[in-house]
Amino acid sequence: MNVPERSHPAPGPSLTEPDPKCHFCRNMAEPARVRDRLVWESASFHVHHHVEEDGSSYLGALLIQTKRHAPGLAELSDAEAQELGRLIHRTSRALKSCTTAAWTYVHGFTEAYRHVHVFVAARYPNTPKAYVRLAVAEWPGAPKGDHHDVIELARRLRESMLAMEDGEATSR
Ligand SMILES: [Zn+2]
Repeated sequence: MNVPERSHPAPGPSLTEPDPKCHFCRNMAEPARVRDRLVWESASFHVHHHVEEDGSSYLGALLIQTKRHAPGLAELSDAEAQELGRLIHRTSRALKSCTTAAWTYVHGFTEAYRHVHVFVAARYPNTPKAYVRLAVAEWPGAPKGDHHDVIELARRLRESMLAMEDGEATSR
């Protein structure tokens, strides 16, 4: 097999400037947009509950995003990648503990905005086959709520995430 010689070093953490046109950079530049839906925050990551523009939102849809404008998963540092894995795990546990989710969906395309973001969503046990995978929010019987319901769920998820962090701190 002919492997082309690599002329550049392997992709690594890149220093990227915030992009004012990027939805996820705007979330960080204008924290009021997501503050009341905050589930977790660290130096590198921000986790908040997703909301639909029309006011009725699928309950249990979380967005994990990098704070910096990281253009793809390959451009994360080792430490960021490890933290992302831990956040997917913990948000999944929090969703199972705060909703009736049977398990969680994880997806991220980095298509509309080249800024790392991963959806972690509750997969409810009675979801009809016609609405599985990317269509869960279109299911008319899906658990949905208004902005107040989302804020309340985000608060409970935040407490659940904090309890996991405290549990890990005490077991160290
Ligand atoms: Zn961005």
